[in-house]
Amino acid sequence: MQRETVFDLIGVGFGPSNLSLAVRLAEEAGAADLAHCFIERQPEFGWHRGMLLDDCRMQISFLKDLVTQRDPKSRFTFINYLFERGRLNEFVNLKSFYPTRVEFHDYLRWVADAFDKRVHYGETVTSIEPVHAAGKGGAIGSLRVFSRDGEGREWQRVTRALSVGVGGTAQVPEAFAALGPHNVVHSSSYLTSIERVVGKPEEAKKRVAVIGAGQSAAEVFMDLSRRFAHVDASLVIRSGALKPADDSPFVNEIFNPAYTDVVYAQPKDARRTLIEGFRDTNYAVVDRPLIEQIYEMLYLQTVSDEPRHRLLANTAIEAAMRTANGQIELTMRDRLTGHARAERFDALVLATGYRRDTHIALLEGLAPHLGDALAEGNVARDYRLATPGHFKPRIYLQGCCEDSHGLSDTLLSVLALRSDEIAASLLEHATGDETISRNPARQKNGVSGGRMAFAL
Ligand SMILES: Cc1cc2nc3c(=O)[nH]c(=O)nc-3n(C[C@H](O)[C@H](O)[C@H](O)COP(=O)(O)OP(=O)(O)OC[C@H]3O[C@@H](n4cnc5c(N)ncnc54)[C@H](O)[C@@H]3O)c2cc1C
Repeated sequence: MQRETVFDLIGVGFGPSNLSLAVRLAEEAGAADLAHCFIERQPEFGWHRGMLLDDCRMQISFLKDLVTQRDPKSRFTFINYLFERGRLNEFVNLKSFYPTRVEFHDYLRWVADAFDKRVHYGETVTSIEPVHAAGKGGAIGSLRVFSRDGEGREWQRVTRALSVGVGGTAQVPEAFAALGPHNVVHSSSYLTSIERVVGKPEEAKKRVAVIGAGQSAAEVFMDLSRRFAHVDASLVIRSGALKPADDSPFVNEIFNPAYTDVVYAQPKDARRTLIEGFRDTNYAVVDRPLIEQIYEMLYLQTVSDEPRHRLLANTAIEAAMRTANGQIELTMRDRLTGHARAERFDALVLATGYRRDTHIALLEGLAPHLGDALAEGNVARDYRLATPGHFKPRIYLQGCCEDSHGLSDTLLSVLALRSDEIAASLLEHATGDETISRNPARQKNGVSGGRMAFAL
């Protein structure tokens, strides 16, 4: 009988969160023999590829890369990336802390390439189930992680700890849910879908509504106006104006790693109040330079007397329906006058944000063993889901702990230190159990052809 490898850690998702953890484990001498791997749904590394617009910049300093705050001497710093790519001096000449997202994506991919052997790309984790510890009553000793690859094959792996870093899921408000996907694009897949939806610039005019008041909505609106001469775009926002993201220095301190302690130390209600008080650093706000570009673009239209694009402020969308000819009719109410009107569009881009609850469905198979921990978001300071005593595996949550750990949780701001904290917790609890296989060689297709295969 084939003996099953038990991993010390499996990471679900290989975005910046688990990538940063991979780096941390590689650089920590004590973690050298931890058996670990990552499972990533995309066929190769990719960071928000659907919004990788050419001219968009990072909203965070490059010094908040995957490692610098923890160890500026690491070989995985953004500065070393520039050095190895032969662009360090030219980057310095730009006098900017904010590289383009395209360049930061290249940095992340450069780091990810170093961990290729640890990552099973093209596999989606579908469920996780408890594994009872032999001879220990009802105790749960480890977890079985099920995944499915692009060819429909299922894989399973067993682990004693899990790091869930699955990011957000496109949020589609109820008013748009019934429209279906035809000519309705969420911003997360904007670049991969927009040409199919609006066609090429030489084609017939298209009316496109962009819904949302945040950074992605503003970026999409600008991109439509720049690249698609045949598109008339309307940016529809509920608020009275596009508002700038507050990135002033005192406010920015809430993204310091130390601020996680401040938030975490508060009682639940006080945490919410703290987070709400700083919402305008991240939600429904836009970088000031982009607001200025949009304002100027709309102003120049009035100079040339060729109004093509519009900002519809104070506008609530009350209904969305598909017309007989496939267009989308939006019923919009002016929130100041109360006046409602209907307008038709050829396509919608929903820049309506992300849900951060994917982990709950993913961990559903464990729910009967977790008490209230999952439902109540009960997470320890070291990002470990607070599980009952009989449940031994450790589950670390990344990117879905905003309520307990603060606004930096969904961002890049604290990655270098969060991965340090998780690695420390992981090592502290590693038991050194002899039955565990160490450092298994990667052998994805260990048992191939079958519907279900054990995999390393
Ligand atoms: C367009 C855009 C720009 C942004 N810019 C910034 C910025 O400038 N600064 C900043 O601080 N933050 C920014 N953010 C916030 C963003 O959340 C973080 O940058 C970062 O992506 C968080 O990393 P993550 O690994 O937690 O999540 P993600 O980057 O979302 O990665 C999660 C990964 O998990 C994979 N996955 C999901 N489900 C499964 C599954 N079931 N099985 C296997 N794999 C799975 C996904 O394919 C994905 O690769 C931006 C967000 C967006 C959408």
